[in-house]
Amino acid sequence: MHIQYIKPSPWSIIEEGWNPENVKSSESLMSLGNGAMGQRANFEEAYSGATFQGSYIGGVYYPDKTRVGWWKNGYPEYFAKVLNAPNWIGINVRINGESLDLHTCKSVSNFRRELNMKEGWLGRSFNAVLQNGIEIAVEAKRFLSLDIDELGVINYQVTPLNQEATITYEPYLDSGITNEDSNWDDQFWNTYTIAEDNDRAYILSHTMKTEFHVGTFMQSTFKLDGKVTTLSRKRTQTETSIAYAYEADVKEGKPFTIIKFAGYVSSLNHAKGNLQNAASAVLDQATKKGFKPLLDLQKKAWADTWAMSDITIEGDVKAQQGIRFNIFQLNQTYSGKDARLNIGPKGFTGEKYGGSTYWDTEAYCIPFYMATKNQEVARNLLVYRYKQLGKAIENAQKLGFKDGAALYPMVTMNGEECHNEWEITFEEIHRNGSMIYAIHNYERFTGDTSYIPEMGLEVIIAVARFWKQRATYSSLKKQYVILGVTGPNEYENNVNNNWFTNYLAKWCLNYAFAKAQDIQKNYAEDFNRIATKTKLSNEEIAEWTEVAEAMYLPYSKSHDVFLQQDGFLDKELITVADLPKADRPINQKWSWDRILRSPYIKQADTLQGFYFFEEDFSKTDLERHFDFYEPFTVHESSLSPCVHAIQAAKLGRMDQAYEFYLRTSRLDLDDYNKEVEEGLHITSMAGTWMSVVEGFGGMRVRDGKLHFTPQIPNAWDSYSFKVNFKGQVLEVQVKGNEATFAIEKGAPLTIVVNGDDRLVKVS
Ligand code: BGC
Repeated sequence: MHIQYIKPSPWSIIEEGWNPENVKSSESLMSLGNGAMGQRANFEEAYSGATFQGSYIGGVYYPDKTRVGWWKNGYPEYFAKVLNAPNWIGINVRINGESLDLHTCKSVSNFRRELNMKEGWLGRSFNAVLQNGIEIAVEAKRFLSLDIDELGVINYQVTPLNQEATITYEPYLDSGITNEDSNWDDQFWNTYTIAEDNDRAYILSHTMKTEFHVGTFMQSTFKLDGKVTTLSRKRTQTETSIAYAYEADVKEGKPFTIIKFAGYVSSLNHAKGNLQNAASAVLDQATKKGFKPLLDLQKKAWADTWAMSDITIEGDVKAQQGIRFNIFQLNQTYSGKDARLNIGPKGFTGEKYGGSTYWDTEAYCIPFYMATKNQEVARNLLVYRYKQLGKAIENAQKLGFKDGAALYPMVTMNGEECHNEWEITFEEIHRNGSMIYAIHNYERFTGDTSYIPEMGLEVIIAVARFWKQRATYSSLKKQYVILGVTGPNEYENNVNNNWFTNYLAKWCLNYAFAKAQDIQKNYAEDFNRIATKTKLSNEEIAEWTEVAEAMYLPYSKSHDVFLQQDGFLDKELITVADLPKADRPINQKWSWDRILRSPYIKQADTLQGFYFFEEDFSKTDLERHFDFYEPFTVHESSLSPCVHAIQAAKLGRMDQAYEFYLRTSRLDLDDYNKEVEEGLHITSMAGTWMSVVEGFGGMRVRDGKLHFTPQIPNAWDSYSFKVNFKGQVLEVQVKGNEATFAIEKGAPLTIVVNGDDRLVKVS
């Protein structure tokens, strides 16, 4: 990838000039999605150069049989693969019989691509001279409709520039596709019907094992020199594809346009036997409206989304582009409409990571969706985990836990654990605590006190049971210890007493105690229902606090810091600044054992605890821990810089905070991790949002009120954002040293700015 080839622009991601080496990176960066489906920015026409094809349907996955070197009891049977789905964007283009392929053209000029984030479309234009000497100008635009989320639309136009030409468009559907990431090269899709109905084509296929049925469909219309024209078609069909060729003689300088309506319907939303009818209904709607009205609806839908979620930054166009890119991709990945879906680390932009749900959702993503959408969306994310509680209990049982203890998976599609590395699957148990932290975060931000008595308490109880059983009483220490874990820092495995894990477990147990008391007192009926269902007794509730109170927390007197884990000080404590540049990133340069023995921290670990539980510590505590751990942190997880940005801002270190901010907001645009070709880092994008709102804006919820300590990076003139707090939309604007607040919706609100109460009136 060529760092920084993306042109700075406040609302668009723009690439200018043809460079085949950028193709895979741009395919990731310009991905499209509408919450229900998404795809990499692959070309519509044939391309024989290096490309990574990807089109994905939310919730549709394949359980790829686990492949590990040495099987360990308790391993999940499969890894849930994010599945490359049938191709519907394809349009073969032939000019006087020669296939248009940018890899084999004589020359390509004026190449330009734009992902327009304001309006939600992807555009591409170029001139090409083919081997046959014909020069053409191409313009293409496509979008995945937010209004009709089973529909994608392509407008593709070719103009012959130096002579008349016979142009053939061959739109096609192809279900003979594979995954790059596959354990055993299994066949993931089975195609069982290819159907037609006038000029509409359908492929019906299903995933193997999981039996998700998908109907992929298309219909095309044409314009010659701007006038609608009807063309006859020539059909080609294989076992897994169908193509219609349409041909026209096109005069020099006149455009020939194809508008292709296509997309997916699936058995997640329709009866298996009714997919063709469902697809046909989408095409009825689409063709009745046509390209332009559909695009207008798209612009309107994005305008509504931006009205609530935009962050404006004046004075720094790259920072502005970065934050909008993050917000755009988060909205493309998860709309909150479908409670069965979640936010995968790569969203709809690549295959890596598999599954869709990591602790990333609870620890990083919920704040963004909670503050920029209505509270139902964040609640849906909690309900998603509630619905998977049974599987989390089964998961814990497989590992020997009992009596309703739950261990939520490290990664999942349907509640079952499907992570395949023992150090993470079995040991990275801190994820369980994030489920509870998210419930607490949700309740304090939205003010929705109904979730816990209705559902949340069951999750809280099951996780408390896990921590109680997972902690061991050390007769030597006369305290509870948690042995053999991996903390958020995956560059240490099987360590004893990871401070973050122990602290989180202690907090969960205390929280479970407090919530059980509260619900028993204030929602007796709900409490009795849940206590009967879960066989909960007052004795058990009391035991939770006993364990919490006696939880061991590793601490070094000489450094006056909590220790990341018992053995941290035994390491050779050479800071990152003293590491040769050539050794970075260590995960690409060093052997694994060397990484594990090193003091280097992949991502915020102890500091993650200081982020979650900031109120438990003073600013000087934070400063000491930040100064101790930041020098060893390599930030080789995308989830790391945002936490450090928020903490550096809190410590008044704005230059450092800004550096972290840039790293998180332009991580993919500037390809910091040298892997953007594989896809984007979607979940950490929510961390970018937190860096601005919680970092620079200093937003916190304390005692039921919103607090702000606004600061501004030197490079910016002003910035603004909105948050939906307990149903009231508050707009925050920071200009120089001035912060102004306005209520857009709702009643006046008292907030706390730099420690002082301020009543904000409706604007
Ligand atoms: C991080 C995990 C994270 C996962 C998915 C890993 O690299 O260390 O904390 O859950 O990526 O984003």
